[in-house]
Amino acid sequence: MLGSCTGAALTWFGQDCSLCGANSAGELLCSACIADLPALPEHCPRCALPSPRGSVCGGCLSGPPHFDGTAARWLYEFPCDRLVQALKYRAWLPLAGFFARSLASKARPEVDIVVPMPLHPRRLAERGFNQALEIARAFAAHTGIPLDARGVRRIRDTAPQTALPYEERARNVRGAFACDLDVSGRGVAVIDDVMTTGATLDELALTLKRAGAARVVNWVVARTLPPA
Ligand SMILES: [Zn+2]
Ligand SMILES: [Zn+2]
Repeated sequence: MLGSCTGAALTWFGQDCSLCGANSAGELLCSACIADLPALPEHCPRCALPSPRGSVCGGCLSGPPHFDGTAARWLYEFPCDRLVQALKYRAWLPLAGFFARSLASKARPEVDIVVPMPLHPRRLAERGFNQALEIARAFAAHTGIPLDARGVRRIRDTAPQTALPYEERARNVRGAFACDLDVSGRGVAVIDDVMTTGATLDELALTLKRAGAARVVNWVVARTLPPA
């Protein structure tokens, strides 16, 4: 079960649900636990924050982000947060496939290519893998949409966004990315595990738009809500 997972690299061999231990017919989670994962309330199609009747929110109307849309599968709340952390910090790689299939069931607007949110090489060396790339790779395999894993790079090793107040996060990631891809006139989906303020995704969308992308959408596993 998830609560008993320890160690840096885990492989999942079991047949029981990782959250409740019930029989899950060989799946990572049972259907009841999947159905109980925290759903997003009605939300803005552009940034995925709550908005009445799913209309474009005031923030996106007054200061439109560089991305054109966001599909988030769940809220970043218990137990979804634990699952995301188990992939990122405990290298529980089967979760990448589960997240990818779940995302694919939620959002498949027409795009030409998917790219993962890149990690700076130094962080990649520390962690050993990029969780966003693992999800994107599984997503591409599942959907057949081409993946480019290397064309978008993180060229500045920025301070972790979680260490900064919300208002400083956009400045922290400014100029953080480079795009070697020719995305002229193409639709690009950026895959990431968690979207918080959206500042990092916005900066990457700006980089992709400057490289000619016609449309950039975010496909994220989980969305945090702003502090009340
Ligand atoms: Zn279960
Ligand atoms: Zn919005």
